[in-house]
Amino acid sequence: MARVLLVEDDDAIRTSLGKSLTAAGHVVMAVASGADGVAAVARDRPDVLLLDLGLPDLDGRDVLAMVRAVSDVPVIVATARDDDASVVRLLDAGADDYVIKPFSSAQIDARIRAVLRRLGQGGEQGESTVDLGALRIDPRSREVTVDGSPVDLTRKEFDLLLALSRRPGAVVSKRELLAEVWGLPWGGGDRTVDVHLSWLRRKLGETAAAPRFLHSVRGVGIKLASGD
Ligand code: CA
Repeated sequence: MARVLLVEDDDAIRTSLGKSLTAAGHVVMAVASGADGVAAVARDRPDVLLLDLGLPDLDGRDVLAMVRAVSDVPVIVATARDDDASVVRLLDAGADDYVIKPFSSAQIDARIRAVLRRLGQGGEQGESTVDLGALRIDPRSREVTVDGSPVDLTRKEFDLLLALSRRPGAVVSKRELLAEVWGLPWGGGDRTVDVHLSWLRRKLGETAAAPRFLHSVRGVGIKLASGD
């Protein structure tokens, strides 16, 4: 069961999807505009946001950006376009998954469960703190410190770092990271990994040209090192 916020301006879709997701055991909150959606994310703190990209008041991508500014809620976007470029843009903008319209409610329910399952993998019980000298990662509290100072990461940045930290010193391919962090075994574009990696680097205080922890191995992948 999840508390699902549905942002969809089409009355028929909103009503029928609301009904079927409720029947599937979810608690559904539904609004019809982007502005109401952003407000509802802040107010109601849903477990999952299902966001239609074609809204009357705001562009769905802008709604996604506004949501990301205030919340790490998993977002599944519903889009009419399925070309690689637009999917990659959505993932880079912070979407967790997407569905192509028209979709079935069973499909949406499966995506919601998959997103929540992946989230649960972040900080498994029993997973202990990763200590790489200057870099410490606590999977349970999702806290990261560099040289003893806390680093504020978004959910995906943390998940990316955690995925790399499970294999310290080993080169992990971008394809593996896409599968593990984004749940996209078939890809979605290396650029998604690159973009998040560059954000992560900035927060860890390094650059691709002068890496400390995150070392790119051209044509192979990324390796996490102790930084000492
Ligand atoms: Ca629409």
